[in-house]
Amino acid sequence: MQKKYLFIAIFFLIHSLHAQQVYKRVLKLMGSRFEIVVVADNQDIGNSYINWAVDEIKRIEKIISSWDPNSETSEINRNAGIKPVKVSPELYNLISRSKKISKITDGAFDISYASMDKIWHFDGSMKEFPDPETIKNSVSKVGYENIILDPKNQTVFLKLKGMKIGFGAIGKGFAADKAKQLLINKGVKAGIINASGDMNTWGTQPNGQKWQIGITNPLHKNTVFATFPLTNEAVVTSGNYEKYVIFNGKRYTHIIDPRTGYPASGVISATVFAPSAELADALATSIFVMGTEIGIDRINQLPGVECVIVDDQDKIHTSKGIHIKKYLNKNNNTK
Ligand code: ADP
Ligand code: MG
Repeated sequence: MQKKYLFIAIFFLIHSLHAQQVYKRVLKLMGSRFEIVVVADNQDIGNSYINWAVDEIKRIEKIISSWDPNSETSEINRNAGIKPVKVSPELYNLISRSKKISKITDGAFDISYASMDKIWHFDGSMKEFPDPETIKNSVSKVGYENIILDPKNQTVFLKLKGMKIGFGAIGKGFAADKAKQLLINKGVKAGIINASGDMNTWGTQPNGQKWQIGITNPLHKNTVFATFPLTNEAVVTSGNYEKYVIFNGKRYTHIIDPRTGYPASGVISATVFAPSAELADALATSIFVMGTEIGIDRINQLPGVECVIVDDQDKIHTSKGIHIKKYLNKNNNTK
């Protein structure tokens, strides 16, 4: 009998020594607030897991940043209209997937939007709407069809002089996916990579329950309007509550329709669930441009992808696989 108690005592001792816990770090990466969450045996191990993720995100930033003159992306932009540039398989494949998303969204998503960046400023400094002629001219260098990929030589060529690509709408999701994959490869059982609302999750909490992911209420920034249980899935929320301008009472976001050159309006927030944060990120941005109706229609055609949209009338719309009532938090003011 005593032996049995001894066994139980030893079992609990070993178990408590290996009790897994959640470790978190908040830091600035890629110019944004990142939160990295891992499940580990102790603080030291948790820290080293988080360090791996941080290094991976920094490595990705060095490849995709269009501000860093030494990045492969800047090299492509510098050679627009001049010559093809050989790039790493990682960047080549990201550009190739970006072009596919442009096709799915009829060009609402377009990494070559970047040449329009000069005329819009969403930091409060813009006092008047640019004139229609300037807007029209700004889209002349935009068009994913002019991003020429050569699979044999792994080169990227921007056909027009002055053309530019940028990963503002997909890069954080991509980085979250890469960091998650690296940690999984290294044997980390569970975690969340949260890149300012672009999240990818894997595994479960130490108690075996799924991660509980809160979506911020777009109109009441400090409250969570819905909470979703997630594992091995990505969720991204894009909202126009931070970067926008108001002209004649109408609110315009920092997401621009690449086909017209005008900023999107009508959608306040778009949350997309998808197998990867990269896809969720790109689609959340696209929904702003496509609008509620076309956005929902497109999402309904994509397997494994769902969305929740809040429009500028404060109304919630969902794709067909989401039963929003189940997840809505009490006391939120959204209709
Ligand atoms: P955030 O990073 O604020 O969450 P998004 O992921 O929605 O927002 O990306 C917005 C950024 O994407 C813009 O700041 C800009 O750099 C870029 N962008 C704007 N319009 C488009 C577009 N139509 N297609 C691709 N990228 C875009
Ligand atoms: Mg995005």
